[in-house]
Amino acid sequence: MNNLPGTNSRRLYFANSAYRDSKYVVFGVPYDKTCTFRKGTRYGPSGIRDATANFESHMFEYKLDLIDINVHDAGDLDVGDATPGEMVEHVNRFSKKIIADGKFPILLGGEHSVSPGCATAFDDIAVLGIDAHADYYEEYDYDKNNHACAMRRMVDKFGEDRVLWVGVRSIGKEECECYPRILDSLAIMKNGIEWAIAEIDKRLPNGKIYISLDIDGIDPAYAPGTGTPVPFGLTSLDVKRIIDHLAPRLVGFDVVEVSPPLDRGITTNLAAYFVMEAIAVTHIAGLKKASR
Ligand code: MN
Ligand code: MN
Repeated sequence: MNNLPGTNSRRLYFANSAYRDSKYVVFGVPYDKTCTFRKGTRYGPSGIRDATANFESHMFEYKLDLIDINVHDAGDLDVGDATPGEMVEHVNRFSKKIIADGKFPILLGGEHSVSPGCATAFDDIAVLGIDAHADYYEEYDYDKNNHACAMRRMVDKFGEDRVLWVGVRSIGKEECECYPRILDSLAIMKNGIEWAIAEIDKRLPNGKIYISLDIDGIDPAYAPGTGTPVPFGLTSLDVKRIIDHLAPRLVGFDVVEVSPPLDRGITTNLAAYFVMEAIAVTHIAGLKKASR
C-alpha cells in the first residue's frame, strides 16, 4: 500500500502551543490489536493529523482562527507492544495528568478500546458515544478491553444512567440488555436529529459530558474508511449538530476507528474536521461562560 502515513505522525498543523500554555491537549493512541475484522486504525492518528492540513485554520462559521487557540499536540503514546490492559492503563495515566492540569484532552485513535482509558480518567461526568455498534459485550475474545466492550467499560465507571450510545444499528444477542442505553440510528432517521438532540438532553440531563466518536456511527457513505462499517448510519451533519449542541458541557473528546489503509482521504478528513469543530465550539462556549 502506498502513501500510508507512518504510525509516528507529525503534529496537528495548527497546534502551536507548548504544553504549559495549552488549553487543549491532542494525543494519538495508535493501537488496533483487538480489532475483530480489518485492522489499520493504528494509522489513524497520523492520518487525521495529516488531513488537518487540508483545511483553513480559519473557521468561517465562527470567525475564529484555530491558530489563535492554545492547542498542544503531545504526539502519540508508545503503545505498540502493550497488551490491551496495559494500553488502557497508559492512556488513563496520561489523561489524568491532562485533566489534573485543567486542560481539555482530545484523543485520536486507534480502535475504540482506547477510549475508556481517557473517559474514565474523569470523575463525575456522562459519556455520549456515537457508534454503529453497541460495544456492550462484557468480554469479547476473552478480553474485557476489546473494542467491542467500550460502552460496557464506561458503564462500569459512570453507571447505567450516565452513558448513552447514539447511532447504533448493530447489536449482538448478548448485548440486548443495552437497549435502554442507546438511541438507534433508524429511530433517528425516522424522528429527525432535533428529536435525537432533545432525547440526549432528556437522558443525560446535566453535568459535564465526554464525547467518544466512533467514526462508524456515521454512514459508510460519509465515512467508509473504518474496520467494521454498517449501513444506515447518521449523516456527518447530524454528528456536527450533536457536538455543537453539547459544546457548553463538553470536557473531553475522542475520535476512533478511523482506518487510513481502508480510506481514500474521505474519512480522515471528516475526523480531522470534527477535531477542529470540537475545539472551536468548546472554545466559543468557554468565552460565553467567561463573559457572563
Ligand atoms: Mn465502537
Ligand atoms: Mn463501531
